Amino acid sequence: MGTKDISTMDNNNSKPNIAFIGLGNMGAPMAENLLKAGYALSVFDLSEAATQRLAQVGASVAKSPKDAASNAQVVISMLPAGQHVHSVYLGDSGSNGLLAELPKGTLVIDSSTIAAADARTVAEAASKLGIDFLDAPVSGGTGGAVAGSLTFIVGGDDAAFAKAEPILAVMGKNIFHAGEHGAGQVAKICNNMLLGILMAGTAEAINLGVKNGLDPKVLSDIMLQSSGRNWTLEVYNPYPKVMENVPSSNGYQGGFMSKLMQKDLNLAMQTAQDTEVETPMGAKATELYASHTVENGDKDFSSIIGRHDVSLLSQT
Ligand code: NAD
Repeated sequence: MGTKDISTMDNNNSKPNIAFIGLGNMGAPMAENLLKAGYALSVFDLSEAATQRLAQVGASVAKSPKDAASNAQVVISMLPAGQHVHSVYLGDSGSNGLLAELPKGTLVIDSSTIAAADARTVAEAASKLGIDFLDAPVSGGTGGAVAGSLTFIVGGDDAAFAKAEPILAVMGKNIFHAGEHGAGQVAKICNNMLLGILMAGTAEAINLGVKNGLDPKVLSDIMLQSSGRNWTLEVYNPYPKVMENVPSSNGYQGGFMSKLMQKDLNLAMQTAQDTEVETPMGAKATELYASHTVENGDKDFSSIIGRHDVSLLSQT
């Protein structure tokens, strides 16, 4: 399906037109779920391959963020890090980005994981222009994005949250209003610091068992029914072939890249330092991921198990 004019699309009039920016491992399936629910979508990504995937399922492909938003009442972004969000919304000069092009009353939802301070900067600039901004990072991984079962953790005011809720409900099952601007990002980095610790610890435990003669699946099943049970064992086992349809059984491709986990751990460490809060376990996980990403930044974060046995990284 090629490019089409979003203003002429029939979306039953009750649903706002949406511009979706950033169609990577998470953004693409999230955008697909909005299309399936009947929203008219205009999409933009720097990667043409990414936009083509969405064009094939009915999205209109735009040439720029401004082009994507030209007929949209809602803008959603799912970008790698703070600098990408800053550049899209504020532009290089701080005032020549997408925000300056949007009509008053537009709702902007940024689901990228970025520093709370960066989210507040964009929110403040939006507010001066009469635009509603929400930070709405997600948890649930690519599986949750495909299934439409993400957890959204939202920061911003009540009225904007109420407008966003029915749209977020298409992509997620649990939608939390964490507090004011930036609160969503603070909650998200607390969660991801814990996830980094859990993944590194789970990889370490499975490796210890395997090196002492246990089958990784048998050990994982035992820990799943014991007090070591956690999300990584439930849905994201780091050892190849223990579970189907997870990155560890697919050469650690797709999923949540180690460099993005490292970014989130760095955000958590920065927040801890700024607020003088002790996070020794988080600091250790940050150190482990920092050395792991030197060679494995593009591999899924469960590849941290390769620290113990590098041969696991080449199993597919
Ligand atoms: P990704 O790298 O797969 O996708 C990011 C996309 O943004 C890419 O397609 C890239 O081309 C595009 N992009 C970059 N700069 C752009 C720009 N200026 N304009 C338009 N497009 C641009 O990353 P992802 O895994 O989808 O993660 C996105 C965000 O979600 C990150 O902040 C990440 O921390 C967070 N997150 C990821 C997961 C996960 O499991 N992958 C889970 C929760 C949260």
